[in-house]
Amino acid sequence: MVIIMNPDASRENINEVINVIERAGLTAKVMEGASQRIIGVIGDKTRLGAAPFDAMDGVESTVNISKSYKLASREFHPTDSVIDVDGVKIGGGTPAVMAGPCAVESKEQLFEAADIVKEAGAQFLRGGAYKPRTSPYSFQGLEEIGLKYLAEARERTGLKVVTEVTVVEAVEKVAYYADVLQVGARNMQNFGLLKEVGKCGKPILLKRGLAATLDEWLNAAEYIMNEGNPDVILCERGIRTYETYTRNTLDMSAVAAVKHLSHLPIIVDPSHGTGKWRMVRPMAYAAIAAGADGLMMEMHPNPAKALSDGPQSLTPEHYREVMAGVAKLAAFMKNEHLLGA
Ligand code: PEP
Ligand code: MN
Repeated sequence: MVIIMNPDASRENINEVINVIERAGLTAKVMEGASQRIIGVIGDKTRLGAAPFDAMDGVESTVNISKSYKLASREFHPTDSVIDVDGVKIGGGTPAVMAGPCAVESKEQLFEAADIVKEAGAQFLRGGAYKPRTSPYSFQGLEEIGLKYLAEARERTGLKVVTEVTVVEAVEKVAYYADVLQVGARNMQNFGLLKEVGKCGKPILLKRGLAATLDEWLNAAEYIMNEGNPDVILCERGIRTYETYTRNTLDMSAVAAVKHLSHLPIIVDPSHGTGKWRMVRPMAYAAIAAGADGLMMEMHPNPAKALSDGPQSLTPEHYREVMAGVAKLAAFMKNEHLLGA
């Protein structure tokens, strides 16, 4: 439930409403809008009984939230959230780009990639230090050494670092080195991990599970937010369907649907979404045209030698071309006012 206060409601009026909520053992979350304050009620609403909010001074109306997720829903928070990663914004009309190799393989490989990523105009360097590989015999990542290289690449380029955390035990370590923690598709419903990253104090990039519905995905975001971390960025990376030509089926309609259902920013990963580097450019453009808040793309200095996901990784040359096109398209979308519902 959300309680919408009158624009002229006093501090006392607001405190009275909060008292009623807290006396029932629930949590009140006050959100300041441009002209109005909204109070969100978190917890089991049945404990409120017949609390007469509508009759209280300063209350304009109450709205019941129909979804099982609350904090992540647009009903609860009508305006778009913009996530600020130390001055770099995700959401708000300018697409953010996260690019880099699938995995951190060596210092040289990462630094070379970071320089290219930076030079072509991205804001974030991606690279896995803990890799969730399908086969236990595949390269599993450099772990903490990889995190150190990522932090050094940040020093070198000024790029923010986004990297995956796969287990609860590594959350603190990854949060120490990274600017944004990624929860991968395979862990989208690892509820223990979601709760832990909810407490880590850093923004979270939450990828859509391989077979997750939008409802399940937004409930996964709710787990993180319910621990006190409002900074969740969603990432559509394709889902399993009966199509085998592509690695996954990139659900571009998820961008429009999530924009309607949630206030959280959503970015698109056309690399994992297709599994084919040739499809990255058209799908990156499609994502920007659909109103995505950014992109995650894999780029490797030498994809033929990559230890993981070479076939979907852009070469530096192709990456630069995609970035140039994305910049033009994003500027066009903005100038022509094509963003928004
Ligand atoms: C990744 O981004 O490195 C990754 C493993 O992606 P996903 O979780 O979407 O498969
Ligand atoms: Mn990958």
